[in-house]
Amino acid sequence: MAQATFFVFFANVLTNQIKCLVIGAGPSGLVAAHSLLKFGYDVTIIESSNAIGGMCQSKHIFNQIVDLGPHRFFSSDKIINDYFREIIGEDFTTVNRQTRIYYKNRFFDYPLKVGNVLSNLGIFHIAGILISYGLVRLNPPKETNTFEEWVVAKFGRKLFNIFFKTYTEKLWGIPCSKIDARWASQRIKKLSLWETVKAAFIGNTGNKHKTLIDQFAYPINGTGAFYKKIENNINKLGGEIILNTKVVHLKKEKNQIKSIELSDGRKLKADYYISTMPLTHLVNNTNDIPNEILDKVNKLYFRNTTLVYCEINNSSLFTDNWIYVHSPEVQHGRITNFRNWCPSLYRESKNSILCLEYWSFENDQFWLASDEELFELANKELRTLNLLPENSEILNNHVVRIPKCYPVYETGYMNNLQPVVDYLKGINNLFLIGRYGSFKYNNQDHSILMGLLVAKEIATGEKQNLWEINSDSDYQEDAEYNLSGYKG
Ligand SMILES: Cc1cc2nc3c(=O)[nH]c(=O)nc-3n(C[C@H](O)[C@H](O)[C@H](O)COP(=O)(O)OP(=O)(O)OC[C@H]3O[C@@H](n4cnc5c(N)ncnc54)[C@H](O)[C@@H]3O)c2cc1C
Repeated sequence: MAQATFFVFFANVLTNQIKCLVIGAGPSGLVAAHSLLKFGYDVTIIESSNAIGGMCQSKHIFNQIVDLGPHRFFSSDKIINDYFREIIGEDFTTVNRQTRIYYKNRFFDYPLKVGNVLSNLGIFHIAGILISYGLVRLNPPKETNTFEEWVVAKFGRKLFNIFFKTYTEKLWGIPCSKIDARWASQRIKKLSLWETVKAAFIGNTGNKHKTLIDQFAYPINGTGAFYKKIENNINKLGGEIILNTKVVHLKKEKNQIKSIELSDGRKLKADYYISTMPLTHLVNNTNDIPNEILDKVNKLYFRNTTLVYCEINNSSLFTDNWIYVHSPEVQHGRITNFRNWCPSLYRESKNSILCLEYWSFENDQFWLASDEELFELANKELRTLNLLPENSEILNNHVVRIPKCYPVYETGYMNNLQPVVDYLKGINNLFLIGRYGSFKYNNQDHSILMGLLVAKEIATGEKQNLWEINSDSDYQEDAEYNLSGYKG
């Protein structure tokens, strides 16, 4: 790779530099830009918001640092971990993960622990779980096309009802029977009941599944600090980042993008275009797209997140990094306690910041609710869960809305996505990467990898199978992890 970089860099310098335009300064766009600059390309990023980092920004609120919900960096892939270490240097810490599931007024340790499950559920429920698991093993379902079928086949119906159904339906806003099994296979692939039970009995020793890992590497000034470092590298290498400017149109001629139009009216030309903007927006804002492709892309949709931050005058509320809230009596699905990540986030403050996550569709009343309505709801729900001691007060609230952050894997969505992907592959100087850029449920590690690989493909001409990253292929999710969460 080092040799390839050198030759491409040299060729670029000699041929007066080839121009690349990157749409979006989230993780995938930043990494792509940084890597292309290292190959000697001339790179400009256009970002619609006023900051870099996309969903991986860290924010300063109430004199502390917080992420947009919990952001745990995790990968077993050497390429990604080498890049992480190259950028972060020593400016990271190892966070001990503690997470629990809140369901029916009880806390379940996650990963599960035998004593805790027994005392929460009792021996009869446990027997029920084992019987329902035994039944599916004896008579496995013929089809596992939906999330519900997939999880029931793997864990039994009773465990599905307790640990999967309510949370998943809050997140996606549609029944589990309408969610494509690809989401399950991507997120919990190879996690078996046996592995879960084994971890519950003998603890977490040796290599284990991603969802069971109990330590992870974390940038000491928040997730966004990692991306700020990439931004610095981009600036040092002569790249340009244009903020507060949206890409509103892509001009296509035959199988090439010729230029893009920005919200301020400017038109920019390049040799290569890398898009991380929502796939649906990209297709709808490119000329000469066949009607059948427009019909397909407009059937794809996203789910939005609303984050409500609450500042509490108490420094020891609970010890979890985050809690999955399965209980149907409250609307939020997850609470993050940033106090439990690392001290450099809260410094001298004696207060804790909690972040409640809500999910909705674009036309839902919830997405349109005012900040005041959201504060009232979040404060009430915190009290409902009994998470605040009697004498603690909620001092301040803050709302962040993240549109289009979950591509919805509704059953049959691939029938709409695949023709769009096939069509876009025919535009030979356009590359689509990232979470909403490629309509994939990416974590930041997947977006980083897409950024690295798109640069490699452009520089070396070697096809990288970008659309396969984070699919249900053997990549990543079924890998085994060491304790620290990174190798090397
Ligand atoms: C609540 C929450 C929790 C998460 N937790 C984790 C976690 O624990 N671990 C983990 O690894 N990942 C986590 N993620 C996922 C992670 O944030 C994403 O995978 C990552 O940010 C995706 O990067 P990206 O570059 O693909 O997209 P984004 O971060 O969305 O970046 C896309 C950028 O494009 C810009 N843009 C959009 N349209 C245009 C346009 N027309 N013109 C110009 N710019 C445009 C956007 O403003 C944005 O900055 C979480 C996400 C959320 C929402």
